[in-house]
Amino acid sequence: HTIGADLDRAVARWGGREVLVDVPSGRRWTYAEFAADVEELACALLASGVARGDRVGIWAVNTPEWVLVQYATARIGAVMVNINPAYRTHEVAYVLDQAGVSLLFASTGHKSSDYRAMVGQVRGRCPELREAVYFGDPGWDAFLARGGGVPRGELLAREAELSCDDPINIQYTSGTTGFPKGATLSHHNILNNGYFVGESIAYDERDRICVPVPFYHCFGMVMGNLAATSHGACVVIPAPSFDPGATLRAVEQERCTSLYGVPTMFIAELNLPDFAAYDLTSLRTGIMAGSPCPVEVMKRVVAEMHMAEVSICYGMTETSPVSLQTRRDDDLEHRTRTVGRVLPHIEVKIVDPATGVTQLRGRAGELCTRGYSVMLGYWNEPEKTAESVDAGRWMHTGDLAVMRDDGYVEIVGRIKDMIIRGGENIYPREIEEFLYGHPRIRDVQVVGAAHETYGEEVLACVIPHDPGDPPTLEEIRAFCAGRLAHYKIPTRVQVLESFPMTVSGKVRKIELREMYGG
Ligand code: ATP
Ligand code: MG
Repeated sequence: HTIGADLDRAVARWGGREVLVDVPSGRRWTYAEFAADVEELACALLASGVARGDRVGIWAVNTPEWVLVQYATARIGAVMVNINPAYRTHEVAYVLDQAGVSLLFASTGHKSSDYRAMVGQVRGRCPELREAVYFGDPGWDAFLARGGGVPRGELLAREAELSCDDPINIQYTSGTTGFPKGATLSHHNILNNGYFVGESIAYDERDRICVPVPFYHCFGMVMGNLAATSHGACVVIPAPSFDPGATLRAVEQERCTSLYGVPTMFIAELNLPDFAAYDLTSLRTGIMAGSPCPVEVMKRVVAEMHMAEVSICYGMTETSPVSLQTRRDDDLEHRTRTVGRVLPHIEVKIVDPATGVTQLRGRAGELCTRGYSVMLGYWNEPEKTAESVDAGRWMHTGDLAVMRDDGYVEIVGRIKDMIIRGGENIYPREIEEFLYGHPRIRDVQVVGAAHETYGEEVLACVIPHDPGDPPTLEEIRAFCAGRLAHYKIPTRVQVLESFPMTVSGKVRKIELREMYGG
């Protein structure tokens, strides 16, 4: 069914339980209160002439209003367009124009970003944009007030027209490997995915999920919000944008049972000087996803953050997002080396990227997935869609993977990140995993750098524990000698203070290659 119908079902079952807590402002909603506010906003959208299929943009950091817009747009069948809060004028103008956004919701500003001023600058380039409404601004209250005169029957009549296969969301990919692409998703795509992700973690109405990952990305809005509301759980917003201290404070204060993050976020939390002062004993589970998790980090998350059941998810925006997931009772080996098994109603296969022939178990190839979760397509880009989704509706992920005999899948890395040195294929992850064991390395990314004779050579970009005392190339090579094959041992080292990141918390290797690999 539709997201609106699912929310009605949730209110009937869990009406008096909490669904949303915003720690910075102290505001809280029960399911019944939340659904009432969603309805108020949905009526205001109707009163503003937003039709089924119209694109409504949201450009904001994590606030409760973000979540209200998510459910209200779905309720009336509008297509919500998630805009990355890190964008600046050039990128926001591109998205507003590409998706044909007619109404935009936005934060007024955050830290140094003045969203209102930026929208002002790009308005002339976005002819379809009729109106912009800012959260926490008098204009927001005025907008909500428009819904007052809309009879409830009008909302119900609109809902009756909707189909669960309607597009309701355009989500842009993280832009890790290039320019982001807008994946168009339906109710059916994301509602089911949220449900199954929550089911693997065994969420119920006692769960309180701390969500420091951005709502703009499917990690926050599907694996967070939709997984929560389809199981009666509560979403806790620790801060408008990622802040490791605020995250752990929110877990302690709100007695959260689940904590989300990409590996870099968990690393930042574990490295807080006052980490030991937080009471994290309420945690039982959480999700780590988006990029590979170093084994050492996983061990500390389980032991020191009490997340014994922490789940690893593999997915991509184009598949709503999750396809593979570890289960509660998987052991550390499965949780560190694999991304689990396939979720219900999804198929996976691993093919030779050159020939398309399905590989035997144990052999690496490109991971392909199929099922209800595959996007409708990239918005207005049929050629790009055809490059990733084939005629049999298989999504070609661009990731290399191995299906093991026990049905668990190991992710080897992105095809684009593979280093080819003199004909040898080198997977950066293996070397990164190894270098994490170096006592003076805090974080490391391995990329291919141009080399005259070998084509590419191995460049290790390292963040040292002590910036005043980084390991030298000779020390790193000595550490690897005799333990890694000679061709995998880095021949170049670049010491850095931080890595270029996407807002969803992934390292943009493409930038590291451009900056240091030339
Ligand atoms: P773009 O497609 O714009 O380059 P992106 O692929 O990072 O960016 P997302 O859709 O946010 O955009 O991320 C999906 C990708 O993230 C996957 O294709 C995979 O490479 C990586 N990924 C997701 N989960 C995991 C995981 N558990 N382990 C390793 N890699 C993962
Ligand atoms: Mg991608």
